[in-house]
Amino acid sequence: DPGLYIVATPIGNLGDLSPRAADILTRADVIAVEDSRVTAGLLRHIGAKRPMVPYHDHNAEGVRPGLIARMATEAVALVSDAGTPLISDPGYKLVRDARAAGHLVVTIPGPCAAVAALTLAGLPTDRFLFVGFLPSKEKARGEAIAEIAGIRATLVMYESGPRLAACLNALAAGLGDREAAVTREISKKFEEAVTGSLSMLAARYADAPPRGEIVVVVAPPGEAAPASAADGDAALAEALTRLP
Ligand code: SAM
Repeated sequence: DPGLYIVATPIGNLGDLSPRAADILTRADVIAVEDSRVTAGLLRHIGAKRPMVPYHDHNAEGVRPGLIARMATEAVALVSDAGTPLISDPGYKLVRDARAAGHLVVTIPGPCAAVAALTLAGLPTDRFLFVGFLPSKEKARGEAIAEIAGIRATLVMYESGPRLAACLNALAAGLGDREAAVTREISKKFEEAVTGSLSMLAARYADAPPRGEIVVVVAPPGEAAPASAADGDAALAEALTRLP
């Protein structure tokens, strides 16, 4: 059917491309891609050859109206270089405009480094905040960390090897020395998750910036003091008012 298909692609292991994603990529009329060389490699892997249109931060404004128009009669797939489009990658405005134009919007879910990292870290997963890439400049990064320091959730962020140690130090300074995990090269040959306190991890990586792709996961702020009896009574009373 004509419309927009958001297609998640592997973050390392090509075996993670779902059959449904391969099917859409084989049949799409056009694929909007971040980097046509990267997606050409994926298409080769599944024996597909489809027209591609570059769609990235630098040309999106110009290219988007044409893609939206094509969705009226064609199946337009959107992929990023790796993982789930729209997650620290372009695409949300394409979805927004496709919806506004009344087109079909379908997602083909799959790999996402942030979620995969949570499954490796061994930290609470019931509430998490994904913060994408923290700013690389020290001052802006400190401000961004201060802004989220009070949030009672596990934090998930993308980071690069060369900046990792500085980032971990800034996190330790701004959040306190929480438990954390540095996950790396997920679904690839050298996949690993190294856990420890933020300061310990910072020390470990200070002189040896790791290679490859990295997701940092940080534990929520320390267990709150047990709720007082009064809080408990109030919560109970409030809950009782909701009973049918
Ligand atoms: N849309 C992607 C997703 O769904 O995960 C993320 C795109 S973002 C531009 C790229 C960042 O994701 C990398 O810098 C790295 O932090 C993280 N990443 C991607 N693949 C990874 C992998 N295999 N292992 C660890 N982190 C990865």
